[in-house]
Amino acid sequence: MIHVDEERARGGWSAGGRRGGFTLIELLVVIAVIAILASILFPVFSQAREKARQTTCMSQLRQIGLAIGMYRTDWDCYVPKNSGGIPWLDAVPGGRGLLDPYVRSGQPLKCPSRLRPEARYAVNGWNGVHFGRPETSPEGHTDAEVSQPSSTLIAWEHQIDAEDCELGQRGGDAFRPDAAAGVSHWDSAHHGGFNAIWCDGRVKRMRYGDLLRTYFSLEADPQ
Ligand SMILES: [Zn+2]
Ligand SMILES: [Zn+2]
Repeated sequence: MIHVDEERARGGWSAGGRRGGFTLIELLVVIAVIAILASILFPVFSQAREKARQTTCMSQLRQIGLAIGMYRTDWDCYVPKNSGGIPWLDAVPGGRGLLDPYVRSGQPLKCPSRLRPEARYAVNGWNGVHFGRPETSPEGHTDAEVSQPSSTLIAWEHQIDAEDCELGQRGGDAFRPDAAAGVSHWDSAHHGGFNAIWCDGRVKRMRYGDLLRTYFSLEADPQ
């Protein structure tokens, strides 16, 4: 019988191709290396999967942005206004929303990462009247009325089921978000943030703390 150490001294393999055994230490080292690699790679894989879902969500919002562009061409109106019980967008095939005929998707537009099944893309319906502010969202208005398209929100990932959101940031201003506003109006499934589409067609991931009240209003930001 050949001792394992002698086999290893000869290269680890016997002349007949029979594999020599590993020592316990070698096995433990291999297991430890696999465990370390797994602990490094699993979070990387899960982050990569979330990144892919975020990309899917962004491409859905871009489709909605294209639909908004077509609607605007037809109706000279920035974003369709919810009215008469007809939503701006149902985001399902055959939906009854104003934008649905313009969305060319064979499947519902829903974020694959949403934290709650009822979460949906909601249009910015900010109306400052309730809070004593002469402000309104771009919904139902023309391009010319939106003073800063790149910093005015059209729609975002709403955490609860609402077609439009009027609450935006009732406090807050051009420099700070409203600490008191409920975070349930914004999802946080994308690494703590949500995707939003702006009046210039850009889609961007935001965090709740990035939201300023002026983003919800078509009026120029106060200086
Ligand atoms: Zn999303
Ligand atoms: Zn809301």
